[in-house]
Amino acid sequence: MKDKLDEIKKNNIKFIVVTGGVISGLGKGIASASIGKLFSNEYKVVPIKCDGYLNIDPGTMNPIEHGEVFVLDDGGEVDMDFGHYERFLNISAKIKWNLTMGKVYKGILDKERKGDFLGKTVQLIPHVTNHIKDWFYDIALEEKANIVIIEVGGTVGDMENELYIEATRQLKNDLGRENVFYVHLTYIPIPNGVNEPKSKPTQQSVKLLNERGIWPDMIIGRCQEYIPEQLKEKIANFCNVSKESIVTGVDVDSVYKIPIEFKEQNVDDTINAKFKLTHNADLEKWKHLVESLSYNMNGQKKVITIAICGKYTRLEDSYASVVEALMHSSAHLDCKVNIKWVETTKIETLDDAKKALAGIDGIIVPGGFGSRGVEGKVKIIHCARENDIPFLGICYGLQLAVIEFARNVCGLTDANSTEIDKDTTNPVVDILPEQITITEKGGTMRLGAYEANIKKGTKIFELYESEKVSERHRHRYEVNPEFHKILSDKGLVFSGLSPNGKLVEFIELPEKTYFVGTQAHPELKSSLTKPAPMFYGLVLSAVTKKFGKNN
Ligand code: GLN
Repeated sequence: MKDKLDEIKKNNIKFIVVTGGVISGLGKGIASASIGKLFSNEYKVVPIKCDGYLNIDPGTMNPIEHGEVFVLDDGGEVDMDFGHYERFLNISAKIKWNLTMGKVYKGILDKERKGDFLGKTVQLIPHVTNHIKDWFYDIALEEKANIVIIEVGGTVGDMENELYIEATRQLKNDLGRENVFYVHLTYIPIPNGVNEPKSKPTQQSVKLLNERGIWPDMIIGRCQEYIPEQLKEKIANFCNVSKESIVTGVDVDSVYKIPIEFKEQNVDDTINAKFKLTHNADLEKWKHLVESLSYNMNGQKKVITIAICGKYTRLEDSYASVVEALMHSSAHLDCKVNIKWVETTKIETLDDAKKALAGIDGIIVPGGFGSRGVEGKVKIIHCARENDIPFLGICYGLQLAVIEFARNVCGLTDANSTEIDKDTTNPVVDILPEQITITEKGGTMRLGAYEANIKKGTKIFELYESEKVSERHRHRYEVNPEFHKILSDKGLVFSGLSPNGKLVEFIELPEKTYFVGTQAHPELKSSLTKPAPMFYGLVLSAVTKKFGKNN
């Protein structure tokens, strides 16, 4: 470890630790990504997320539990905060950057069996905390980072993140107090009837952090309004921070405004001063796009409604990147995108689908698993195709669009996926050959970035403007190659195939205004500066269909 510490000090690598207090869901991920954004124009910023749960990764969890499972280029299934990191920092994150207590304990137990601790009692401190710190230091060095941002999941006082907090406390002893900056995100409520912001929960949360040996350098108070000067003085006094280091994490209508808010409240200058950096954040381009998005959300007259039709709609975070990709497209087009959530478990007939889609300008059927809600999705797709409503099918959405086409156009009335019906006589969607012998569930799908060859002259080619496209994947099933011919004979165009020509990556129906699907998850690579082409195409088609070409 000593060599690594020397190397880190020699390379002048700085660490920013972000913890949270009072309640969860305050936006630690957005705060971490926004702080990183301020430095990312000049420095290599590497985000690390520490999750307290014992799953190895979120890949085996229902999105209702923990939000969307974000997939990286390298196939990592990671916390949805990586979506924010990638979208804000313009990076391709790595699986190693997401620690979970599952991964940490697995690592420790593997080491113990190997004999790495021979003769010793293996303890939470120092063995587990050293393991965690080693992980941080390895990433810092491997990535040649300038600034590492460590976000500790959960809130201070939770049992499951204690070891991460202890490890981050030790960072300052390892690296020197001047090289570590601690940020604590808390909540400043304005209770009904009291009608003024209250600082007590923040004071108590900082005390909990102090008990663990961490004195924050900055407090970000999430609040409906800007924290008044007087209250800042009070917090400064009770929490041992300078008044200038108290920042309002003010409620905003778009998370993309947070880096701008932070810049206006001199977050970068405060960090610069501590780290002795002379850095200047450059948010010009970002600001321009945020303004255009903001105008579209608030003042725009042209409004379209896109239906997101799935079974996890109870928790909107389940489809976080899909929603973001729509927002990114809106920022580049002259229209506001409203979202209507359609719960497909409630749709039984074509009539139900028609009713649910009344007034809808575009449809997304996103990724999913299992049979619940599937027939509802097929009905939605049927309705989209027959009524020429712009449609985008993502992963399961593509597979179900193929099933709908097989049933209602090719006349294969019992066409299905073997994921849903093992005994169907027309398995138009079937398990990938390499998946047949796999029995373990964790991390075994076809995961991460895969390339596709795009057919010239197709809508997909027009959107991507390229014959080679790489998108991220997460699936076990595919369009069955035995049915390619019958489907294409009836007019379904395979606009993109895997390099070996076997796996259908993109489909379209050319006679429709916009009817496309992909086996991949293009929403995962969408950003405010570069919206995912298939989402851009959907929004553009919907707005053009509704308001005419030169809208
Ligand atoms: N359940 C389907 C499969 O495993 C689709 C997965 C998804 O939509 N991510 O192939």
